[in-house]
Amino acid sequence: GAPAIDRDVDSVCPFCGVGCQLTFKVRDDKILFADGRDGPANQGRLCVKGRFGFDYIHNPERLTKPLIRKAGVAKADIEGLDPANPLTHFREASWEEALDVAAQGLLKVKADKGPAGLAGFGSAKGSNEEAYLFQKLVRTGFGTNNVDHCTRLCHASSVAALLETVGSGAVSAPFNEVENSDVIVVIGSNPGVNHPVAATYFKNAVKRGAKLIIIDPRGQALSRYATHMLQEKPGSDVALLNSMMHVIVKDGLTDEAYIRDHTENFEALKTHLEDFSPEAMQERTGIAPEQIREVAHLFATAKAAIIFWGMGISQHVHGTDNSRCLISLSLMTGQVGRPGTGLHPLRGQNNVQGASDVALIPMFLPDYQSVEDPVIRGRFEDFWGAKIDPNQGLTVVEITEAIHHGTIRGMYIMGENPAMSDPNVTHAREALSMLDMLVVQDLFLTETAAYADVIFPASAWPEKDGTVTNTNRQVQMGRAAVPLPGEARQDLWIIQQMAKRFGLDWQYDHPRDVFDELTQVMDSIKGLSWDRLDREGSVTYPCESPDDPGQPLIFTDAFPTPSGRGQFVPASLVSPDETPDREYPVILTTGRLLEHWHTGSMTRRSAVLDAVEPEPVVHMPPAMIEELGIQPGDYVKVSSRRGHLKIRARADGGVQAGLIFIPFCYAEAAANVLTNDALDPFGKIAEVKFCAVRVEAA
Ligand code: SF4
Repeated sequence: GAPAIDRDVDSVCPFCGVGCQLTFKVRDDKILFADGRDGPANQGRLCVKGRFGFDYIHNPERLTKPLIRKAGVAKADIEGLDPANPLTHFREASWEEALDVAAQGLLKVKADKGPAGLAGFGSAKGSNEEAYLFQKLVRTGFGTNNVDHCTRLCHASSVAALLETVGSGAVSAPFNEVENSDVIVVIGSNPGVNHPVAATYFKNAVKRGAKLIIIDPRGQALSRYATHMLQEKPGSDVALLNSMMHVIVKDGLTDEAYIRDHTENFEALKTHLEDFSPEAMQERTGIAPEQIREVAHLFATAKAAIIFWGMGISQHVHGTDNSRCLISLSLMTGQVGRPGTGLHPLRGQNNVQGASDVALIPMFLPDYQSVEDPVIRGRFEDFWGAKIDPNQGLTVVEITEAIHHGTIRGMYIMGENPAMSDPNVTHAREALSMLDMLVVQDLFLTETAAYADVIFPASAWPEKDGTVTNTNRQVQMGRAAVPLPGEARQDLWIIQQMAKRFGLDWQYDHPRDVFDELTQVMDSIKGLSWDRLDREGSVTYPCESPDDPGQPLIFTDAFPTPSGRGQFVPASLVSPDETPDREYPVILTTGRLLEHWHTGSMTRRSAVLDAVEPEPVVHMPPAMIEELGIQPGDYVKVSSRRGHLKIRARADGGVQAGLIFIPFCYAEAAANVLTNDALDPFGKIAEVKFCAVRVEAA
């Protein structure tokens, strides 16, 4: 029979940005499994991660006591450090001692180097309340804007383009709007794997008769539902999108009334597009001109067309340009602001939208208000009762460089794993080992925690109350289902204990108190309250008053730009930072797997998920495997200018000639050892979707 359940606890899935609502089924303080609830983003559906991915919180490797590095154990010495046995390198400590050592180390750096000697990485996996308090500690306690999180490796370039052109970095419509679309474009995104429940809405829209156009260098399961699959050459997005827009202009398919009434700078774009005929771009894109013409016509003449994009667009040195093109495509055809239309950069992490909204980023205060604006800054200084640095802080990869240059000497990292997720990760790990004080707050002895001076055992999502914001701008309520193990503590408590040691007099007894403060400093959610969310479970922002139901569709009349109009920003061709050559002739692209989440710290400790994809593989075109004279399953050595790894080959007909794909979740073959840390100049995102490698039989 079915297992007896002690209690049901309603919450939200902690993995991807879809934000499926679920019910934890708990027995003896353990989560046995989860059931989907009728949330606005999932209507009862869950993917394999949301259903089976929760035993990580009960994993025996869970940290349950504060740890301090043992005297004499060098930070670079991580050989032989076993996450199951941290005591070879660390000793257990009381909370009081660990907090004091951590704070004193960071305060010493501040005294020696000034506030700019410190930095903090927060987390898109925690709650809005945790992200907000963390950035408030860094800004008002550390005294610097050097605070960032994984958005820098995610949609930072998309947000840069959206803020510049349409004045708002979030999506213009929820993904459920596909119910009203007749054309759906999915570009640089693999939603069947990374947003599986969102993908179910796309499939059902196709069943109803919508056309699905997928544009990606790699084949994907969702292409079985696509009416058009354009397998472009890697890194050719600007060429492809400009050629689509060239066709739309030449064939008179632009929406002239929309352009006249709602946009600016179209003439400059029109002139710029002259040189981008599909024929002129064919060598770059690898796509036949007639296919470009067909999809351009489909998109422009659709009654309602919507665009979804992912990391394949954002993680390039031309990531901001890629998004500028997608925005221009929507604006010139008037495919925005109406039902079934819109711009939707699918958010990866469950709370990357919310963490960014509450200012876990170095250039903005909450609600994307510039930290450099003296009026805005003054308002926050009054409200927070502390001075704020008038300069923007450094971003993720810039912080790594600043450590190498000796300017940053102390860091506090909460729930991020840069020793796995950063590009050129050997360089990033060296940086972590160079810090005078590294404080890491996490569930496990992650690859990053291995370099720490002090480790705080933190709380997992199913152990806490808090709000998160999904890709659809839906703020949702999560609830504690099980108690904390051992001496692990709530992250909100830990942050406040650190704040106290930085002289900050805070009093937040419950996440509700932090959420109340959020609604006071963020106009976008001023109609929300903890009680309302607790009652309704989910409310979409902008939400301006307690009786505002929330606004799923935005840009219906005007854009939140200074002129109220959308801006066309032409994009030129920019080559990838590192192109293949004789020594490194193959292109490497990286990404996620359905079963494993990001750096694997959670899902690889989840028995069912790890059993499905238990070991690292490189996805290779079958012909490449044949050329190497090996069999699928044999080991190969993959090298780049930055490092190498040994990994099993998997034949994958979806990977085009000259390309390989490695998921970045496996510590034993960390893909980011190979990747390039060259940055997009606007979004400061690294080009982890393109670098040059060599593949040899191992
Ligand atoms: Fe969780 Fe995303 Fe899967 Fe939904 S689609 S169950 S939010 S991982």
